[in-house]
Amino acid sequence: MDSEVLFRLFPENLRNSLSRYNIELDMPSAPHRSWVEVSRAQIAGNYRAVRQLVGPHVAVMPVVKADAYRHGAVEVSRVLVSEGADGLAVSNVEEGVILRQSGITQPILVMADFLPSERPELVHYSLTPVIHSLDDIAAWNRLAESHGKPLPYHLKIDSGMGRLGVWDSPTKIAAAIAASKAAHLEGLMTHFASSADYSSEQTDQQAANFHALAQQLAETGIKPRFTHLSSTIPIAYQRTAAWGNLVRPGHAIYGYVSPTRGEHAPASSLDVHPALTWKAAVLAVKTLPAGTPIGYGAMYRAPREMRIAVLAAGYADGIPHRLGNRGYVIAQGKLAPIIGAVSMDLTTIDATDCLGLSVGDSVMLLGQDGEMSIDAQQMARTAGTISYSVLCGISARVRRVYV
Ligand SMILES: *Cc1c(COP(=O)(O)O)cnc(C)c1O
Repeated sequence: MDSEVLFRLFPENLRNSLSRYNIELDMPSAPHRSWVEVSRAQIAGNYRAVRQLVGPHVAVMPVVKADAYRHGAVEVSRVLVSEGADGLAVSNVEEGVILRQSGITQPILVMADFLPSERPELVHYSLTPVIHSLDDIAAWNRLAESHGKPLPYHLKIDSGMGRLGVWDSPTKIAAAIAASKAAHLEGLMTHFASSADYSSEQTDQQAANFHALAQQLAETGIKPRFTHLSSTIPIAYQRTAAWGNLVRPGHAIYGYVSPTRGEHAPASSLDVHPALTWKAAVLAVKTLPAGTPIGYGAMYRAPREMRIAVLAAGYADGIPHRLGNRGYVIAQGKLAPIIGAVSMDLTTIDATDCLGLSVGDSVMLLGQDGEMSIDAQQMARTAGTISYSVLCGISARVRRVYV
């Protein structure tokens, strides 16, 4: 569906077609200033690529935290569940509750810790917490006893990242697990700090620490159903020893695998593609005389008579401010430079080469148009940030359309 063309010509039609996609318009024919189009088929395809690479003996639990990296956690989760995902991982309790309230019944792992006050919600919504301290195992156990039912949890080991995770001796960890019989240890996990960096020993060291601990626990009879260590990078670059029997892909589901650093890095084995296209409408087009300053701080001055277009999106929509005078968009299948500062709600481009571009047209901030493409990795490089941050930075006011 070419929604921008539809909207320009037939606002009424657009409204009808949007309602098919469960998009609510607050105002009767409010135009999209900026929106993303998320391909359900591409999300499904990316999931299948992971599924196929890891094989039948490894479970796949896609990560839909941060509103599925802004692709929309509910819609993305529905696609993944219909593709047979073995569970879903979120960061916090609220994200888990939202999925439950939208009818997702698969196991949901809450990975980025919780506050003591959130424990009742975990139980009420059947969310599985990742626990990061021995005291929390005991607290989870007391809750399980008081509810008279086993409550599953995963235990995260800090194997050397120095962030969340237990860092106690194997004896202490084993004792804490054994003392908490009502709580059910379903998974043992860790997370890597530098898996893309093949010049570093850190990943091997972390994996060795983790496996040694898992072995010591096994010797005391503690053998959780799942062991898992891998996010996208160790999956894509086939660090199979770190797959355990469950993997946690996030970035890959959205079509991204970050490049590696260091020599002897293998090539990615995952054939995934971005599922999101980000567009903005053209609000104004005009021709300015040579020497005209453009935007805040007059960071740019037209070097010649210049056709410019003003786009209906700015840093409040998630366009990195650092793209001022640096970034590009795709307009009419061509790269058009961002000129001047990115403002809160507006961005200006050099439209000299886009003679047909007019008010109401759309340009692409992220996406592919013919030969031309800009993905989150490229935008991130230009802006001096990371692709994860570009995706998560697409703000809530940017509408989402599922195609
Ligand atoms: C975010 C996250 C993942 C997914 O990471 P990607 O690089 O996006 O695949 C996996 N595990 C944990 C613990 C995470 O926080």
